[in-house]
Amino acid sequence: MQTSFTETQLRDPDTAESNRILRTCVHCGMCTATCPTFLLLGDELDSPRGRIYLIKDMLENDRPATPEVVKHIDRCLSCLSCMTTCPSGVHYMHLVDHARRHIEETYERPRAERALRRLLSALLPYPRRFRLALRGGVLGRRFAGLIPGRGMTAERLRAMLRLAPASVPARSAVERPGVHRAEGVRRGRVALLTGCAQQVLAPSINEATIRLLTRMGVEVVVTAGQGCCGALDHHMGHHDPAMRLARANVAAWTAEMEGEGLDAVVINASGCGTTVKDYGFMFRTGDEEWAERAARVSAITMDVSEVLRKFDYAPTRAAPGLTVAYHAACSLQHGQGITAAPKDLLKRAGFAVKEPAEAHICCGSAGTYNILQPEIAGQLRARKLGHLDRTGADLIAAGNIGCLTQLSGGGRPTVHTVELLDWMAGGPEPPQVEQARQGRAGLGAAHDGSAATAAASAGSGRA
Ligand code: SF4
Ligand code: SF4
Repeated sequence: MQTSFTETQLRDPDTAESNRILRTCVHCGMCTATCPTFLLLGDELDSPRGRIYLIKDMLENDRPATPEVVKHIDRCLSCLSCMTTCPSGVHYMHLVDHARRHIEETYERPRAERALRRLLSALLPYPRRFRLALRGGVLGRRFAGLIPGRGMTAERLRAMLRLAPASVPARSAVERPGVHRAEGVRRGRVALLTGCAQQVLAPSINEATIRLLTRMGVEVVVTAGQGCCGALDHHMGHHDPAMRLARANVAAWTAEMEGEGLDAVVINASGCGTTVKDYGFMFRTGDEEWAERAARVSAITMDVSEVLRKFDYAPTRAAPGLTVAYHAACSLQHGQGITAAPKDLLKRAGFAVKEPAEAHICCGSAGTYNILQPEIAGQLRARKLGHLDRTGADLIAAGNIGCLTQLSGGGRPTVHTVELLDWMAGGPEPPQVEQARQGRAGLGAAHDGSAATAAASAGSGRA
């Protein structure tokens, strides 16, 4: 694609990078075929190619974002399916991140939306605050349907309350800074990102990760000073808060690398993993020392499935006779290019693994997307749950808390992949397994019931 940025514009490193990205696009439109918003809305401006044109026009003309541009960029899930599809290697993620930052700097959102975005930014990255807010959400969720109005603000409030869980789990001790020693001979040493929202919504995921790794001979450090990866702010275009959170993590992990050393920074929420793997890029234009530190952190960052493969995960229990539908989180499959490892590990653990149709399409979670764009997110959720349901699996497994939350309450229990792997290697059985067994028994009973009814119908001569 031809671009016409001026020399002055290109002195800005972000514009220079966007120019480079734009020039790789050959407008072929192949990306439109796998874009969830184009699939649902059928509007070229809600496709990757359409958004690329909007961004080009806005940046080239040094124009403040218009309501039209904001509408179509806001509708983008940042699922990165377009990056997997693009034959030309267009780095859409960095381009849309730049556009989001430009929007936040040049566009004044309606007051209610600004307030909501500020609230999300002030709550979600901070576990203590988020836990308190969630307790309120637990009480409020039954009243979600009573919120009046058809406007976007009412829709968003309802979406937020509907996402609240039935109860808030107790805080887990494993998230406190400290060292979890390896069992037996130490084979490796890793730092675990304990995350922000995940540790509040499902502390069992970090517990399973630490149990499993330490049992495999890997020492796990929870470093003091680490916290939210910054992705939630980053995707809302809040550059400074995102960089502040990222800097704290870079400082914590480089101190550990320079101390006892680390083989990896392990991430068990793939949305966070994609961002931490991008720290090197995010810090590239600032202070050289920070840029070098961030690049070192990104270089050793691994999804938990990659680490389990590296250390030769092996089950110790007999195959459980359960079928798992593997839901590939976009951040894992498109953001990090990890597709085979989680499925291979589940199979190695003894599960029958099924994949739903349209596995490449987002479930609608996408960070805060299911709150900010509840209608599209709801349609994607229903579409995904339909495909998952048709696999006939007992459970749904995924490697990202956002997807697990989005898909919960859809009929089949959802569980993090690492919790199943931990169970099969000697850890406790996740409660979702019993729910799955009960679900299966219920289906069996329903099936028997209909068979009996059919037999009775046949006996009585009724059609
Ligand atoms: S597939 Fe890639 S090159 Fe083709 S239009 Fe989309 S972004 Fe551009
Ligand atoms: S990131 Fe996802 S929603 Fe956004 S343009 Fe690409 S495919 Fe479409």
